[in-house]
Amino acid sequence: MRFTRNNGPLRATSTLPVRQGFSILLMSSAPAPTTAFRPQLAHLTAQLDEFRARGTHFRLRVLDDEQAAVCHYDGRQVINLASNNYLGLCNHPKLREAAIAATRKYGVGSGAVRTIAGTMRIHMELEEKIAAFKNVEACVVFQSGFAANAGTVSSILGKDDFILSDELNHASIIDGARLSRAKIKVFRHKDVAHAEELLLEVQHEPGRKLLITDGVFSMDGDIGPVAALAVLAEEYGAIMMVDDAHASGVLGRNGRGSIDHFQVHGKVDIQVGTLSKAIGALGGYVCGSRDLIDFLYHRARPFLFSTSHPPSVAATCIAAFDLLESEPERIDRLWANTIYFKQQLANAGFDIGGRTTPKSETPITPIILGDGRATMDFSRALFEAGVMATSIAFPTVPEGKARIRTIMTSEHTRAQIDQALETITAVAKKSGIL
Ligand SMILES: *Cc1c(COP(=O)(O)O)cnc(C)c1O
Repeated sequence: MRFTRNNGPLRATSTLPVRQGFSILLMSSAPAPTTAFRPQLAHLTAQLDEFRARGTHFRLRVLDDEQAAVCHYDGRQVINLASNNYLGLCNHPKLREAAIAATRKYGVGSGAVRTIAGTMRIHMELEEKIAAFKNVEACVVFQSGFAANAGTVSSILGKDDFILSDELNHASIIDGARLSRAKIKVFRHKDVAHAEELLLEVQHEPGRKLLITDGVFSMDGDIGPVAALAVLAEEYGAIMMVDDAHASGVLGRNGRGSIDHFQVHGKVDIQVGTLSKAIGALGGYVCGSRDLIDFLYHRARPFLFSTSHPPSVAATCIAAFDLLESEPERIDRLWANTIYFKQQLANAGFDIGGRTTPKSETPITPIILGDGRATMDFSRALFEAGVMATSIAFPTVPEGKARIRTIMTSEHTRAQIDQALETITAVAKKSGIL
C-alpha cells in the first residue's frame, strides 16, 4: 500500500488486505460508512427497548453555551437547577485567565502518566496547595473524583480485608471496593449503630477494616455522620475514609469540607474531594499522610496507567483554591440561596425528602414524586416551561423514591429563584402533583 499527500488528509491509494479475505480502506478522506445494525450487539438494542418500555430511556441534553444559572440546552433557555457548579467557578474570569496563561506557557497536554514523565511542576503546586488548605501532610490529584475513589479503595486493601460502606455511597466507592476483592459489608444509610454491629461481627478477623462514607450524599443532599463514624473507627481500629465530592467548596470554613464542618481534624485517615464540582474544573484528590500518598503513587492504577491533567486544569484549580479564600462571599450566597429555596419549596407543599424534617441539609434538594415515569414526565414538562432539573429514578435511588433533583448555586439571583419556584409550582399543579 502507498500513501499520497495531495492537498488533503493522508489517503490510502490501495486497500489493505485483512485476514479472511475482507478488505478495509485505511485513512480514506471519504465519509465513513455509518455502522448499521450488527447482530453481535443485538442484546444492547434489546435492553434499550426495555428501557423505553419502562420509560427510563433518555437522551443527552446538550448545553449550547456556558454552564450558568440561566443558559440554553437543546436551544431552549432554562433556569438551570441541575449543575454542580455550586460557586459559579466553571466560568469565573480569573479561572479562565489562569487556564489560558498556563496553556500559553506549558501547552495543552502533559504527555505522559505521572510516574513516567507527566508530572509537571504545576501538578505538584496544586497538590501542595490542597494539602495546605486541608491542613494535611500530603495530597495527590487524580484525573477525576471517580478515579480517586476507585483507585484508592482498590489499592489500599486486599482480599483478606473488610470494607464497611454506607448503602448510599457513590458508585466509584462501590467499584473500588469490588476491585479490591475485600469483603464488602453495607450498613443502612447513616445508621451508625448498624455500622458498629458490622464492625463487631468482624472485629476478631485478622483483616484490616475500612469504614467509608460520603460527606454529603448526592441524591438526598443529607450530610454523612462523619464525626460519629470517626469515633467508631477509632474504637475499632478501622481506617476512616470520607468522600467529600459534594462537600468540597460547600461545607466547612471556606469550603474545607465535612472534616472541617464536624471539627474532626486528624481523625479521618483518607479524605477524597473533587475538583469537578464546586471547584469548577476537573479532577479528584486524596488527602492524608505522606505515606498514604506515596503508596498511592506506587499502587493506585488510575495514577499509574492514565495520563495526568493538562497544565490548564491544574492552573485553574490553583486559582479556584485562591478564590475560596479570597471570595468567601460566594459560599455565603450559596447558603442564603439554598435556605430560601428549600423554605419556599416546603411552603408550596412539596415533599423535599420528608415533609416535617427534610433530610436535605445542603444545596442539593430533592423533590420526591415516587413514581419513575411520572418523575420523568414532570422533568420534561419543567424543561418545556423553562426549568432544568434532572429526574432520578430506580436504580439510582430506591424504587418508589423517584425524584427531581435540584441544586442551588451562589450565582442564581433572587429573581431567577422566584421564577423557578413559580414555574415548578405551576407545572406541578397542572400535572396533579400539588
Ligand atoms: C461526583 C461524585 C464523585 C465523582 O467525582 P468526579 O470528579 O465527577 O469524577 C465521587 N463521589 C461522589 C459522592 C460524587 O458525587
